[in-house]
Amino acid sequence: MCQSCHVRAVSTYRTAVARLTAGTDLEGAAGLTTHAPQTAAAVTLPVSLDEAVAALTAMPAAVPVAGGTDLMAAVNAGLLRPAGLVGLGRISEIRGWHYQDGHALLGAGLTHARMGRPDFAALIPALAAASRAAGPPQIRNAGTLGGNIVTAAPTGDALPVLAALEAVLVIAGPGGARRETPVSHLLAGRDMLEPAELVGFVRVPLLHAPQVFLKATGRTGPGRATASVAVVLDPARRGVRCAVGAIAPMPLRPLEAEQWIASLIDWDGERAALAPEALHAFGEYVAAACIPDPVGEGDQTAPPLSPAVVHLRRTVAALARRALGRALA
Ligand SMILES: Cc1cc2nc3c(=O)[nH]c(=O)nc-3n(C[C@H](O)[C@H](O)[C@H](O)COP(=O)(O)OP(=O)(O)OC[C@H]3O[C@@H](n4cnc5c(N)ncnc54)[C@H](O)[C@@H]3O)c2cc1C
Repeated sequence: MCQSCHVRAVSTYRTAVARLTAGTDLEGAAGLTTHAPQTAAAVTLPVSLDEAVAALTAMPAAVPVAGGTDLMAAVNAGLLRPAGLVGLGRISEIRGWHYQDGHALLGAGLTHARMGRPDFAALIPALAAASRAAGPPQIRNAGTLGGNIVTAAPTGDALPVLAALEAVLVIAGPGGARRETPVSHLLAGRDMLEPAELVGFVRVPLLHAPQVFLKATGRTGPGRATASVAVVLDPARRGVRCAVGAIAPMPLRPLEAEQWIASLIDWDGERAALAPEALHAFGEYVAAACIPDPVGEGDQTAPPLSPAVVHLRRTVAALARRALGRALA
């Protein structure tokens, strides 16, 4: 993004926040209305997770906002009209991470920029790589892990990494309650956030082994993924875990391909490298599992895949092959 675009984006963002925080302006602007004009001015800036949950409990129509990169885009597009905002930016307990039983507890308020730094990359390399790929610098400075998860966009770069790591959310609820649910359950809609609940932390295993995240975009420079792949090695369990992002509403795990390739790796050898043919076959296996051939109905033969889908399949195969090759190199 050029400097003038950045300035424009920041000014648009500030204008939108100003509108949200000024009830009269909100009502006057373009004939827009709000059901609760008196609460349109409500912006709360709690300093702890429990305070934030209490603020949401007291004002159920308010929405939490972290970096605002997704939320304010929706406001600017006229898709969302929150009656109030609960800002999460001052909650220091969710802006870092700490260790617990071989896991890292990552605060939901960690920004992509922070996760892209070398000390974080030494802990969870694939998440650091995904964070470095998540949009232009202005977005990475503001956008957070929690926002990426809760927005749950197919193109969310952190999501395939969290799926491959089998990460778990620690959710804060009213009365100091804490509950846990796998990230994949939230992304699949099997376990949604209840009213006034917030994502507090993300529990990620520390595997101390190579991890790779690769992303394909439709343009040069920062852009949304057309396909992405995370590959994580888990030598202690002799496992390979892989997740494919952006090609479906939620990350896909090609479980059979994972098991097959893990069975070929010499986990006790000095180097776990595989022959190029095996890497190629893994890429094809992953791609075919995530983008299967169409099945014909009755005695009708199945229609062929469209050229765009064939191209996407090739992209996924190439990303998976390269990601595994780099992880094993
Ligand atoms: C120009 C542009 C480019 C982008 N490029 C990329 C990209 O390449 N890759 C990518 O992955 N993303 C990209 N994004 C999307 C966005 O930056 C990320 O999804 C970011 O991580 C969102 O975080 P946030 O803190 O800004 O979320 P917010 O906008 O503050 O919030 C998003 C949603 O999550 C909710 N929320 C936030 N935190 C919590 C919490 N702790 N508990 C419960 N709910 C919460 C909010 O209520 C809201 O519904 C891009 C966005 C823009 C505008």
